[in-house]
Amino acid sequence: MKLHLETLRQAGLEAAGVLDARTAAPLLRRDIGPFGGVIVALFPYYAGSAPGNLSLYARGQDYHGVLRRRLERAAQLLGLEAQPYADVSPFDEVRLGQAAGLGGVGQNGLLMNRAFGSFFFIGELVTKQELAPLQGGMEPACTGCGRCLRECPTGALRQGGLQLSLCLSHITQARRITPHQQALLQRSALIWGCDACQLCCPANLGLEPTALPEFSQELLCSLGEGELRGLSDRAFRRAYGGRAFCFRGIRPLARNLELCAQEALRKDGSLPQREQ
Ligand code: SF4
Ligand code: SF4
Repeated sequence: MKLHLETLRQAGLEAAGVLDARTAAPLLRRDIGPFGGVIVALFPYYAGSAPGNLSLYARGQDYHGVLRRRLERAAQLLGLEAQPYADVSPFDEVRLGQAAGLGGVGQNGLLMNRAFGSFFFIGELVTKQELAPLQGGMEPACTGCGRCLRECPTGALRQGGLQLSLCLSHITQARRITPHQQALLQRSALIWGCDACQLCCPANLGLEPTALPEFSQELLCSLGEGELRGLSDRAFRRAYGGRAFCFRGIRPLARNLELCAQEALRKDGSLPQREQ
């Protein structure tokens, strides 16, 4: 089956490319059995960068559900039998997007293109039907300026890759953290995710806000202690269940808020300085 970019757009996939099974198979991280092809699509979420302690990607609706709904609808419109994936994917999504002509890999390890910079989610439809390849036509955007490596507040990004244990995006959602990770978190004042290696990137300057209402309306930029105080995990999930920062429950967020509050008190002089 041969798809065209316009057909994909009409099915709601504004930025997408197609890989045949032979090209996509080497990018699998686990076996999913036989398949005919993969449609890879980008869903931009940039809606400004107002200050806050939540990462930009987590301020709108939970992208897992949004992408799954949009991908399922697209498969229906295209008449395809397909399995949608978003984030929890059997593929290396960044390499998959690159192979589908949706951008290039930046020094920050993210897929980047000229239209959306790096502020987008990647989703896939894995089809039963055989698909002919189709390049998404989105130009790579990384110039290799190295700013992301220099601006990373923890040194997690070095030439040659990401050291996950130092990355605030990982630390803020980890169930248990080491004293060193705790100190990194306290310096950042972030409670969920980190955008430093993206906000400093020239490819992300002057981006158009996303046209997707799920990621541009009813944004929540910050959470404070007052909003979580006294909430059970169940009550927290009821209150914030549609948000991406909710999937680990209340504990990591409550811990992060507490650590950041302690640090603010130390800076204020109300608590003894911690050892560096
Ligand atoms: S998300 Fe933050 S901590 Fe992680 S690599 Fe990027 S700048 Fe560094
Ligand atoms: S900051 Fe520079 S090196 Fe890093 S991803 Fe952006 S363009 Fe590439």
